[in-house]
Amino acid sequence: APKAVLGPLVGAVDQGTSSTRFLVFNPQTAELLCHHQVEIAQEFPKEGWVEQDPKAILQSVYECIEKTCEKLGQQSIDISNIKAIGVTNQRETTIVWDKFTGEPLYNAVVWLDLRTQSTVENLSKSISVSNNFVKNKTGLPISTYFSAVKLHWLIENVRKVQKAIEDGRAIFGTVDSWLIWCMTGGINGGVHCTDVSNASRTMLFNIHSLQWDEELCEFFGIPMTILPRIRSSSEIYGLMKSGLLEGVPISGCLGDQSAALVGQLCLQDGQAKSTYGTGCFLLCNTGQKCVNSEHGLLTTVAYQLGRQEPVYYALEGSVAIAGAVVSWIKNNLQIIQSSSEIEKLAEVAGTSYGCYFVPAFSGLYAPYWDPSARGIICGLTQFTNKFHIAFAALEAVCFQTREILDAMNSDCGIPLKHLQVDGGMTANRVLMQLQADILCIPVMKPFMPETTALGVAMAAGAAEGVSVWSLDPKDLSSVQMEKFEPQINAEESEGRYATWKKAVVKSMGWVL
Ligand code: ADP
Repeated sequence: APKAVLGPLVGAVDQGTSSTRFLVFNPQTAELLCHHQVEIAQEFPKEGWVEQDPKAILQSVYECIEKTCEKLGQQSIDISNIKAIGVTNQRETTIVWDKFTGEPLYNAVVWLDLRTQSTVENLSKSISVSNNFVKNKTGLPISTYFSAVKLHWLIENVRKVQKAIEDGRAIFGTVDSWLIWCMTGGINGGVHCTDVSNASRTMLFNIHSLQWDEELCEFFGIPMTILPRIRSSSEIYGLMKSGLLEGVPISGCLGDQSAALVGQLCLQDGQAKSTYGTGCFLLCNTGQKCVNSEHGLLTTVAYQLGRQEPVYYALEGSVAIAGAVVSWIKNNLQIIQSSSEIEKLAEVAGTSYGCYFVPAFSGLYAPYWDPSARGIICGLTQFTNKFHIAFAALEAVCFQTREILDAMNSDCGIPLKHLQVDGGMTANRVLMQLQADILCIPVMKPFMPETTALGVAMAAGAAEGVSVWSLDPKDLSSVQMEKFEPQINAEESEGRYATWKKAVVKSMGWVL
């Protein structure tokens, strides 16, 4: 068959908590041409522990690249058109490996993991609340969420890690660093780097000086020699060392939430998006200034799209459990066989009948930051059934988003007029309508759902030396969106929200 005539293309690795994808875009139109996705396993070796196998993560990436290239072939698209690859990833998840053998020294400790709770309590005690240097430098509260405490735990508790550090063999990275190191050659010259957005989630990175911070590394007991080099989010880090895309530059790197912000074209001060995946993350671009939250939000680096470009910051509201509550209902309650089935159940119910579900499985993140909270289902009566519980689970995702939106509006002063959304869960139309009802503002969903991948593809395609994607606002076509308008009155919405808050109070302080 004759090959279709196409200009340069850009590939994106999207390595999430629940799945890995590889996607190929046309930079001329931002159109998604082809993709492949595989689910990835999470291991729960003990209560509160969440791990993944770094090699399985890597394998899933290679598998997705191969399968996508095969599919492109079937569409008669020449894979030599792919001129750049971007990597976007689940953030904070912590990996330590041996740079001489390429072997991981322990499983990846996933962002949701709670094993560091006592470490966090001890560290928090040694910090003055009025002059919290960790918060001042990183924009983050000390929490089990961020990499530094996970890395601290690995160094304290895993003999293999300790030994490899003593022997100068160990290096650390979040998932982006691990993948880029492996993809650029691993033990044969792999590049050990990360970008500013991922670095800003480690709790070792000073978001003002944009460097690893000596005082923080000392505080968390981390030797600075094991840290990756910090780069911008859009530049050539190295070339693919093997496989069908050998020789293609890897030239974009962004944490998944930053990538979604870029992919939704929220490139200006005051623009925001919310992504519904395993967790839910609302980010508001604050431009080149670091804004401190008075309402439990994080200050984080959004992106730096080129070495000479300025760093952009964001305020972030993070919810630990969003899609994960649906996975829990599927895997643990087994009342649905696939995540998407929850939509039918919720639709049948149409209401939770006063049942409220606070899925604080990993404590509560924003705006509460209470690690001792645990999940509750309350307001049960003889009448409550699985349909109501399914509805309450979806409603919980919406209430949690309402809480962070309220916090965002208070911090920013100007309330958002609509919410741009994306992520795996947004396929659920009942959820989208419920979200509009509970926020009392329209919810806008792009027709092309893969905005996270699109964002990092843009970063990769725009890099110096690649330059196949223009980030000039006049060249960026606006995102085509579907709109969900609020359909219930504000009074009813506020009433339900007030009851939700009562339920949240009941979930807090559970583990003492
Ligand atoms: P991540 O980027 O964190 O890997 P995804 O964006 O792939 O996550 O979304 C997957 C999550 O969304 C899973 O937790 C899954 O249970 C949930 N999910 C996927 N589809 C639906 C749906 N139709 N309704 C509700 N939840 C869903």
